[in-house]
This record gives sequence, C-alpha cells and structure tokens, in this order.
Amino acid sequence: MGRKNRRRPEPERSAPQSNQQIESHPDGDWIVRSLTGSSATKTYRCPGCDQEIRPATPHIVAWSADDPKGAEERRHWHTPCWKARDRRGPR
Ligand SMILES: [Zn+2]
Repeated sequence: MGRKNRRRPEPERSAPQSNQQIESHPDGDWIVRSLTGSSATKTYRCPGCDQEIRPATPHIVAWSADDPKGAEERRHWHTPCWKARDRRGPR
C-alpha cells in the first residue's frame, strides 16, 4: 500500500543554515548570520555606527556563541561595521 514510499520528515531541522557561521573574535566566538536584502524586512539600529539599517539592506546578525542567552540578544550590524569591529576595539 505505498508505505515504502512514505517520506520521512527532514531529520536535521536544527542544523545550522549555510549562511551562518561561527567567527572567533578577541572577545569570544560569535555566531554570525548573513541576511540578504529580501530577508531584511525591518529597520534595525547598527551598534557599530549607530545608524539605521534600512529594510532590504543586506546585513548580518551576530550574537555571542559563548553566552547561552546570546541568541536572545542578537544584534543587527551593517556588514562593513561588523568587519571593522575588531579594529575599533570594544568601545
Ligand atoms: Zn553600521
């Protein structure tokens, strides 16, 4: 009765997305996810330059991989601001 053809649900639901990676920084490891313009539908405030990230702007989301609550406090950054972060220092 066609049971053999039954598809199993995808087993790797929680696997990291391909646009997400872990970066090592002087202040620890950070999970960094790239957002394309089409997935950026809200305006965010970039902590690097204190300017708005307008909708449809490709940017990144980063949160601490060391902090168990890091994902709750993730920050949206302009991609170049994130890259300049190490050079600027913590403040
Ligand atoms: Zn910025």
